Amino acid sequence: MALSSPISQPSYFHNITSSLFFAGGGVNGNSSNCGSNRTTTLMRSRANNNYRSKNSSLLPKIYPCSPLLRQHPNAFFSSDFNLRWGRRDSSTSNILVSVASAADVLLDEAVEQAQLPKGDTWSIHKFGGTCVGSSDRIKNVAEIIVKDESERKLVVVSAMSKVTDMMYDLINKAQSRDDSYITALDAVLEKHKLTALDLLEGDDLAGFLSSLRDDVNNLKAMLRAIHIAGHATESFSDFVVGHGELWSAQMLAAVVRKNGVDANWMDTRKVLIVTPTSSNQVDPDYLESGKRLEKWYSENPSKTIIATGFIASTPQDIPTTLKRDGSDFSAAIMGALFRAGQVTIWTDVDGVYSADPRKVSEAVILEKLSYQEAWEMSYFGANVLHPRTIIPVMRYDIPIVIRNIFNLSAPGTMICRPLVSETENGQKLESPVKGFATIDNLALVNVEGTGMAGVPGTASAIFGAVKDVGANVIMISQASSEHSVCFAVPEKEVKAVAEALEARFRQALAAGRLSQVAVIPNCSILAAVGQKMASTPGVSATLFNALAKANINVRAIAQGCSEYNITVVVRREDCIRALRAVHSRFYLSQTTIAMGIIGPGLIGGTLLDQLRDQAAVLKEKFNIDLRVMGITGSRKMLLSDKGIDLSRWRELQSELGEKADLETFVHHVHGKHFIPNTVLVDCTADSVVASHYYEWLRRGIHVVTPNKKANSGPLEQYLKLRALQRRSYTHYFYEATVGAGLPIISTLQGLNVTGDKILRIEGIFSGTLSYIFNNFAGARAFSEVVKAAKEAGYTEPDPRDDLSGTDVARKVIILAREAGLKLELSDIPIENLVPEPLRAVTSPEEFLQQLPQFDQDLAKRRQEAEDSGEVLRYVGVVDVENGKGTVELRRYKKEDPFAQLSGSDNIIAFTTERYKKQPLIVRGPGAGAEVTAAGVFSDILRLASYLGAPS
Ligand code: ADP
Ligand code: ASP
Ligand code: MG
Repeated sequence: MALSSPISQPSYFHNITSSLFFAGGGVNGNSSNCGSNRTTTLMRSRANNNYRSKNSSLLPKIYPCSPLLRQHPNAFFSSDFNLRWGRRDSSTSNILVSVASAADVLLDEAVEQAQLPKGDTWSIHKFGGTCVGSSDRIKNVAEIIVKDESERKLVVVSAMSKVTDMMYDLINKAQSRDDSYITALDAVLEKHKLTALDLLEGDDLAGFLSSLRDDVNNLKAMLRAIHIAGHATESFSDFVVGHGELWSAQMLAAVVRKNGVDANWMDTRKVLIVTPTSSNQVDPDYLESGKRLEKWYSENPSKTIIATGFIASTPQDIPTTLKRDGSDFSAAIMGALFRAGQVTIWTDVDGVYSADPRKVSEAVILEKLSYQEAWEMSYFGANVLHPRTIIPVMRYDIPIVIRNIFNLSAPGTMICRPLVSETENGQKLESPVKGFATIDNLALVNVEGTGMAGVPGTASAIFGAVKDVGANVIMISQASSEHSVCFAVPEKEVKAVAEALEARFRQALAAGRLSQVAVIPNCSILAAVGQKMASTPGVSATLFNALAKANINVRAIAQGCSEYNITVVVRREDCIRALRAVHSRFYLSQTTIAMGIIGPGLIGGTLLDQLRDQAAVLKEKFNIDLRVMGITGSRKMLLSDKGIDLSRWRELQSELGEKADLETFVHHVHGKHFIPNTVLVDCTADSVVASHYYEWLRRGIHVVTPNKKANSGPLEQYLKLRALQRRSYTHYFYEATVGAGLPIISTLQGLNVTGDKILRIEGIFSGTLSYIFNNFAGARAFSEVVKAAKEAGYTEPDPRDDLSGTDVARKVIILAREAGLKLELSDIPIENLVPEPLRAVTSPEEFLQQLPQFDQDLAKRRQEAEDSGEVLRYVGVVDVENGKGTVELRRYKKEDPFAQLSGSDNIIAFTTERYKKQPLIVRGPGAGAEVTAAGVFSDILRLASYLGAPS
């Protein structure tokens, strides 16, 4: 038996964790070649997915493999397969003959010489149910067919959407003796009648309606028989459910003819001959089908053929189907029979996505897939393509293109052979994992016990029991200790499997040789697929790391020896999160940053506008993807799962904003996605917000801020914060806390880390006070200059906030601490320029009104300075050598750089061991929303470059 051979191989047990995938009849013992070359990866069919509802498209779709698939996966390709992508010419088309079962795919020589003009002149198109879901859509399809410039075309068409489900429902109703099958059949009739009335007229309409009526009458009789018998045989139900395709093909052919193109419709039951397999699947008989196609064509020669998908006949001419979603397979078989140039599968999405787009909004269209990758993706649940579609076309290197009928501008996904130039060059930067797919509704069975080790035949006994209940094993994993064997089966089959195993091992369980047969329900499989995984080390490490980071427990692992996929079993409720986590890890750039902006006021708002203007350039040129996931003010917050549209953030915030809550905000920005990095940007001046930095950094959230409160607050808190920052790889940047966008903190840090010794820092740190003293030159009184500064918008609403010197003191503290001094704000003596009696005055207006009374003192000091060739400047000083800081009004010689400032510029002089004779001076605009926001922005970009953005 196929299965027992690999499992009982001693070498197999030396693998750390080995695994088997089953497709085809391996366990049934009827396909002895199945797996003979695949030591650890085999495939086996689902026992019965005949009644799978279209809506349950996420259910596993496992189909029996053709003998071709039962070979080692590398046998899909000849030795030169990896040398190039693309089509080979027909002279070399026997590429797979050496591995294919002759009866399965070899076509009769006689067929090749027959009349039918085979070859590249034929294009095959397949239109899925949604493409022909209504009369308008059928018209649209007809237009596409008419416009297609191929010399000859065969169009395979599905039933109108939902119709096949309706047909299966008729059978279910009839066999459960539910009379409503009659009204349900009427609904089917009505749907097609109305569509035909919309589309057709005259003889075409009359002809179609009459054959529709005949069909429905026959169906009625048949369903009545099923109703009486209370049971439908498979051929009965296959006959019934295939009618959807018969009707859609006839209507479409008539519409194409109406558009002026001569078209014949083909009832594929007359052409496609398939042999049922033991696993409720069918294998095409290419030889017989080829012959019948010749015959059909000789009677209906046509350059445009509209053929039914899904349906076929057995060799005994009994109608059958290719099973659910089988129209893709029909198109592929037709492609092979015609040796067509291309098979185009038209559907409702732009192509094959890197993951199911309904589950992963970040999923991207895959431009190209190899046949093997497409097969693995579809096998593991990507239902955009039926897995059996690959084999027939691969035999002749016929490319498949998946295209969106609703978006003709999208080029779609091309499935073909890889070209050497692409594998070597073009795809180097591509992720080694192409796509991810999932299968839900599984259960794991774990057979465990010390008595299993070294006992030959245990695995055979286990899977023999599983086979006896007809269950489908989707994945097997066994630890090298041989202590346990674990496998996945569809949830609905697990009860029978567990009972069969308990019965089979009753004695071993009683004797303690087996400790248990455990069932773990509610599982899902997540598969990562990519041909390049085989040659790229570290892929599984990355995958498991992403799962670990998302706190997802992996229950079982399997990697086929082909290395085209890695499969993990996770809890069902974790499956989507797992899918998103691994998808983000492989598809998002490492410099994708989720951002939360706190305080969209003047600075925060300006920052958002700057981000809006620069985001596209950053993404395109530097691979930095900044996504603002949330904006919160003190009252309202705006949250987004994908990133806020920054061109409209103000409107969105006011229209959609919800009640602000910092906890919820942080949870959203950090927790509700799998973007690799999160940064919170605090643009407030709030000490409560600042008090959260420690906790945020501890949670791995980077922090960027112009808010001075954290670094100038209580020393102990500051030291704790900095200690944490140094220990972790989470970043905390605060350049804009001093001198706005000027490089002050970074200069100081640069001096420090390169071993310079800071002796003194002296600077004009307040743009307002800089402006005031630059203009207090004798012509106007101090109070007049202050008034003018307020009117020009240079001061805070209350100028006393500037004149008090506290803000300068905070900057002094920040720099002092950065230089290593352990000072509190209260340790800094501040020369307060607000005259004592005016400090308690309530309104700013009153303050300004009374200020002239105090002009004299400053006028006197200014005059004294001028008399000795000096000017007054309001400065902050960090005297590192003496461990002190001060904020005061000082005098500077007129030729000193501090005396020569203009406007509201800042100036900072660093005196150090290396810059002793001449201090290092940084000078420039150091206040205002634009430059402050720019300072914050450049910290965000610094963060991106620390995270690995290109320079
Ligand atoms: P049709 O009726 O045209 O055959 P299907 O419903 O069978 O269409 O398949 C198309 C659907 O497959 C898409 O609408 C999409 O939701 C789903 N799908 C699942 N996984 C993927 C994937 N990886 N890429 C694209 N589509 C996918
Ligand atoms: N109409 C069939 C189904 O719904 C076949 C197909 O559409 O592919 O399963
Ligand atoms: Mg489909």
